[in-house]
Amino acid sequence: MKPSRRELFARHVAWTSDAPLGLEVAHAEGPYITLEGGRLLIDFISGIAVSAIGHRHPRVLKAIHRQLERHLHVMVYGEMIQRPQVDYAERLCSQLPTRLQSVYYTMTGTEANEGSLKLAKKVTGRRKMVAFDRSFHGDTHGSLSVTGRAAYREPFHPLLPGVTFLPFGDIGALDAIGSDVACVITEPIQGEGGMNVPSDKWMRALRERCSSQGALLILDEIQTGFGRTGTLFAFEAFGIEPDIITVAKAMGGGMPLGAFIANASIMGALRSDPPLSHVTTFGGHPVSCAAADAALSVVLEEDLPARAAKVGAIIRRRLRRADEVREVRGRGAMLGMMLDSAARAESVVRKCLERGVLVGWTLHSGRLIRLAPPLNIPYAVLDHALAVILDVLDA
Ligand code: PLP
Repeated sequence: MKPSRRELFARHVAWTSDAPLGLEVAHAEGPYITLEGGRLLIDFISGIAVSAIGHRHPRVLKAIHRQLERHLHVMVYGEMIQRPQVDYAERLCSQLPTRLQSVYYTMTGTEANEGSLKLAKKVTGRRKMVAFDRSFHGDTHGSLSVTGRAAYREPFHPLLPGVTFLPFGDIGALDAIGSDVACVITEPIQGEGGMNVPSDKWMRALRERCSSQGALLILDEIQTGFGRTGTLFAFEAFGIEPDIITVAKAMGGGMPLGAFIANASIMGALRSDPPLSHVTTFGGHPVSCAAADAALSVVLEEDLPARAAKVGAIIRRRLRRADEVREVRGRGAMLGMMLDSAARAESVVRKCLERGVLVGWTLHSGRLIRLAPPLNIPYAVLDHALAVILDVLDA
C-alpha cells in the first residue's frame, strides 16, 4: 500500500523541530487556509508576516499569470533589464526617503541581511558590528552572527567575529557604538524577540550615535515592513531614517522575494574592487517582482497600513476583557498576547487550532502568543477569530 502523505512527510521532508504543525494544506484564499478533508482555518499569523494582503490575492495572481507568459529566469541578477524588477523598484522607491533609492534584490530575508552586512563592511572598511539582545535576523551564518540569542548561535560557532550585543531599548548602552563599528543592525520592533517596541527616544539616540560614529544603521524591516505596524515601514513612526533597510516576507505577496535598500552611492560599493562582489542567481525573480508590484499596489490603494492600525486596535480592545492576558505587546497588527506560562500558551494555541483559528508563538518567547492576521482580514472574520480566542481563554 502506498504510504500516506503524512508518512512521506515524515520520511522525506526534513523537519525543523520534533513537533511541526503537520497540517495538510489543500487550498488558501484570503484569510483562510483549507486543509485536506475540508477543514477551514482562519490564518491569524499570515504565514509569519507574509500574507499581509491575504492568500492568493487576485491582483497578485493576475500579475503572476501575465509574467508567466513573458519570461521566467533569464540571467543572474543585475545583468539584464527586466521589466518587473525595474517597475517594482521604481514603485517601492517612490514610497521611501531619498536616502533609500537603490534596491538590491534577494530571494529571502536572511540573504537581504547578509547583503546589508557585507555592504556595510565594504563601504566603511570597518569590521565590527553591533546588534541587540533578543533580535532575530535569519539563519544563515552572517545573519545568525547578529541574532541576539546565544542558544541559537552557540551550536554553530565560530560565527562572524567582532559582533557586540547590546540591550535593546537602553539609551545608555549606545555609548558602546564606537568609531570602529561598520554597522548597527536592529529590527525597529523586535518580532521573534517578543513584539518589543522601543521608545522613539531610543531610536533617535541610536540614529544619532550611528551618525556621529560613522556606523551605518541597518533596519531589518523583514517582519515589520509593508504596513504591518500601521505605517508602510516601521521606521516612519519613529521619525528617523536608516542608511539601509532590509525587507522580505510580505514583499512578494506570497512569492519569495527580499531586498536590501540603500542610496546609490553606498550601493555602488558592490560594483567594483572586485566587480561582482555580491551576486545572486535568483534574487529579484521576475515572477516574484511582478507579484510584489501588485501586492504593493494593493497595500497602497487600500491603505492597509491604516487598516493594520485599526485591526490592532480592535484586537487590543477585545482582549482587554480577558483577565488571563497579562499584556498585549507590539504595534499595529503585529501583536503578541502574554500569558502566565509557556504551558498555558501552548494549550491555548492548540485549542484555538482545534476551533479553526491558527495562532502561534514567537521564536524567543514561549509565553507570548503571536497575533498577526492579514491586514485586510474582513471585520466579520476578525470578530469571529477573536470570539474563538476569548472563548478558549475563558474555558
Ligand atoms: N529578519 C526578521 C526580523 C525575521 O522575522 C525573519 C524571519 O522570520 C528574518 C529576518 C529571516 O527571513 P527569512 O526566513 O526570509 O530568511
